[in-house]
Amino acid sequence: MCDQSTRTERKYKFNTLPFDHAFYRDSIIPSSTSKWNNLPNHIRTITKLDTFKYMLKREYVEPPKPLFHYGERTNQMSHTRIRVKFSNLNFHLFNYNLVTSPNCNHCNLPETPNHYFLICPQYDQERKEMLDKIRQILRINNLNNKITLDILVYGSKKLSHTFNTQVFHIVQIFIKKSGRNP
Ligand SMILES: [Zn+2]
Repeated sequence: MCDQSTRTERKYKFNTLPFDHAFYRDSIIPSSTSKWNNLPNHIRTITKLDTFKYMLKREYVEPPKPLFHYGERTNQMSHTRIRVKFSNLNFHLFNYNLVTSPNCNHCNLPETPNHYFLICPQYDQERKEMLDKIRQILRINNLNNKITLDILVYGSKKLSHTFNTQVFHIVQIFIKKSGRNP
């Protein structure tokens, strides 16, 4: 007996060929087959090539860096997606032909990361809280830097790891409170 999800799971898998030799196992066909079978189900079952490529890239982007692993998983993922330019912001989706307009749903301006974090009036309240808190961190470190998109997305080289972690925490609270799930 197998339930519906297990059946769907199997439906899109290839049978692996029997092998008894590492050389054969690692050669192109068997290794591609097992890579394919090991893809998460929600990616393996995508039928549109562009969407498949997009999701594949999104799932297997850039090698991890310790700072960038900071935070609650959902908000951390949104933060990471913005960093690697594969986010749900319309500007990024438009670049991958996944939406018809790059514009923000609230303004007639492209929904770039800069627009989302620093400009869009829809998130004024959340942004004020974020910028106030980051300004405090900069002040503690005797920095008068303007708060740029780079600091929000990559952290600052002038801050210690601990302070950058705090910046990330604050940015991820903004992401969560914005309700945008970018
Ligand atoms: Zn906007």
